[in-house]
Amino acid sequence: MKEAHHLLKKVFGYDSFRPYQEEIIEHVLAKKDALVLMPTGGGKSICFQIPALMLEDVTLVISPLISLMKDQVESLLANGVEAGFINSSQSEAQKNQILMKARNKELKILYISPETLASGVQTWLRDFKFSLVAIDEAHCVSMWGHDFRPEYKMIQEIRKIDPSIPFIALTATADKITKKDIVTNLGLKDPRLFTSSFDRPNLSLEVMGNIPKKEKQQEIIQFIKSQGDKSGIIYCLSRKETEEWSLALRAAGINSEYYHAGLSPDERSQVQEDFVKDEVPVICATVAFGMGIDKSNVRWVIHTNLPKNMEGYYQEIGRAGRDGMPSVTRLYYNYRDVVLLTDFAKDSSQSELLLEKLDRMLQYAEASTCRRRILLAYFGESLQENCGNCDVCKNPPAYLDGTILSQKALSCIKRTDEKVTMHVLIDILRGAKNAAVYNGNYQELKTYGIGADMSWNNWSHHLIEMKNLGLFEVAYDQHMSLKVTDFGNDVLFKGTQIQLTAPKIREAKKEKAARGEKSTRTPVTTTELTKQEILFDRLKMLRRKIAVEKNVPPYVIFNDATLHEMTIELPRTESAFLGISGVGNQKLESYGYQFMDVIKTHLEENRPKISTYEETLILLKQDLSLEEIAQQRNMQVTTIYSHLAKLFSEGYPIEIHKYVSEDEIKRIREVIQGMELTNALKPIHEALNGEIDYGKIRLVLSVIESEVINIE
Ligand code: ADP
Ligand code: ZN
Repeated sequence: MKEAHHLLKKVFGYDSFRPYQEEIIEHVLAKKDALVLMPTGGGKSICFQIPALMLEDVTLVISPLISLMKDQVESLLANGVEAGFINSSQSEAQKNQILMKARNKELKILYISPETLASGVQTWLRDFKFSLVAIDEAHCVSMWGHDFRPEYKMIQEIRKIDPSIPFIALTATADKITKKDIVTNLGLKDPRLFTSSFDRPNLSLEVMGNIPKKEKQQEIIQFIKSQGDKSGIIYCLSRKETEEWSLALRAAGINSEYYHAGLSPDERSQVQEDFVKDEVPVICATVAFGMGIDKSNVRWVIHTNLPKNMEGYYQEIGRAGRDGMPSVTRLYYNYRDVVLLTDFAKDSSQSELLLEKLDRMLQYAEASTCRRRILLAYFGESLQENCGNCDVCKNPPAYLDGTILSQKALSCIKRTDEKVTMHVLIDILRGAKNAAVYNGNYQELKTYGIGADMSWNNWSHHLIEMKNLGLFEVAYDQHMSLKVTDFGNDVLFKGTQIQLTAPKIREAKKEKAARGEKSTRTPVTTTELTKQEILFDRLKMLRRKIAVEKNVPPYVIFNDATLHEMTIELPRTESAFLGISGVGNQKLESYGYQFMDVIKTHLEENRPKISTYEETLILLKQDLSLEEIAQQRNMQVTTIYSHLAKLFSEGYPIEIHKYVSEDEIKRIREVIQGMELTNALKPIHEALNGEIDYGKIRLVLSVIESEVINIE
């Protein structure tokens, strides 16, 4: 495996393998089948790309998305790997040219679409020499997967061409059924399953519940502004909402576009491209957006509504931070979403399953324990400790005695004959005067207004907790009305104690309170850029310029993590530059000098200012003669002597004898013996018949002065 390590460094610029990569490579090289489950950004590509470099014939990579294929090939080419693709977007001539290259062994990796494969099995693939078949997005072969591709079933046909050629199937989404489907439908032979952790510790997890629309919008705008030009995605429930959000953001001066399935294919690919190429930082989209995108520097993802299930949520937040750099994910949800999604789910033929999944999603959103633990537990993984990077961990809840609050709520539910929704219940508790209350004649209830001292949001917070504790249930099939459970009855009638968590004061509100303002305008936070950030911006600018010239996405040149490491390590030599993670030989050669130049210029500009004397000292230390120094600094030699004098008198170790001879010192001493010491050099110079330079005289004077001081 020494060669694999060597290639990892030389070609991809990485020092070590991530978990399982090495084992997978070894397994594949032993001509055995593998099924690889790794999260997005986990590093699946390396698992077949390194074997491809080591094997004799071409590696076929089957990939369902044309845009993705192109990006991957470009990334490989940037690393100096001979790769190509064929898909339906090309002319016959283009395809033939690539095939010719592959046959001539000028390619190591050939990406093909499932359609191309299906048509090629009977034709060109028959006598085509290949060493390995990699099936990316392997879940597409399963009918249960969310993006089933019938052509994926044709993949089995290439097995027949040469059954000894190993298959490696890779995916980021596979539950039990899908896994089984992959194995059967691809005809994998006794495959070994490699499952890496689905944890993405660089993604922070935040959830914001039941926030009024206006406030939510302001908070999101404020957040995006704080992110500068960093890329992010806002996921919305409907096409209309994507357009509305984009409009609102633009009105706030944020450059954004929207994306949904209602746009024409051209419009859609334009939006994708603008995003991928860092032209437009923010996209407001339905969940259709992101599938064909390999962009590694998405720095944040916001959901404006509750996702339908944990699988979708995990996949969507997973589009952030593929480069491993810290990225923010934030989910806003509202009870209105739940009602809407419940209705959707009920209309489906699989309603039971969908409702169950929705419920799990809601539990996650409403949790008051570490969210990452819940998320990973859902995918069958257990985290031993709290993550420290979710909103619950960062701001743990304070507990309060919630027995009386619970009793108020439960009693009120009972008095409505368990007919009201949570929304109406809060209105009754708070004594609201609105149609929902009057229609049910609820103003007559004994519990009407008994919770008027608490805000709407706080009631909502506590009721959700009560529901999660099992004090009452939401009858999804009876218009979301609330039903008290047995446990709820215990609390109501037997006084079972209940603990609730104190609602959190949110940032926007805290700030407002601190400033004692009524205004709802949110301040734009302006933080001063650090030198490191300035350099990062400059490197990004260079990256962008090169990307435009080469017509590739910027991250193909270097990803954000690589640029970030440059701002820390400040490499200025070839070997230092190669030491940066993500820099292989090819990239050093193609771009290294341009990036090092930016770093050098930056350092030059930020060099601490030094005095003219110190500058002379630095040159002295480089063993330059005084004449050379004078020449280099474009100064008189006399001036340099005076620098020496100054340096000497300030205690720097100047070797006087190097610059003035013993004889000269003696003569100067003799001359000044009978004189009164002043600063004037002219009389001394004249007494020496002008034979000794002014500079030397000054230097010797400073030596004599220091002797005087020492004696005194
Ligand atoms: P996936 O296909 O699993 O979503 P990729 O193969 O695109 O993930 O890899 C995600 C990122 O991680 C890429 O930028 C890739 O270059 C990087 N990467 C992969 N393996 C390593 C490694 N061993 N060390 C550092 N970075 C790696
Ligand atoms: Zn946590």
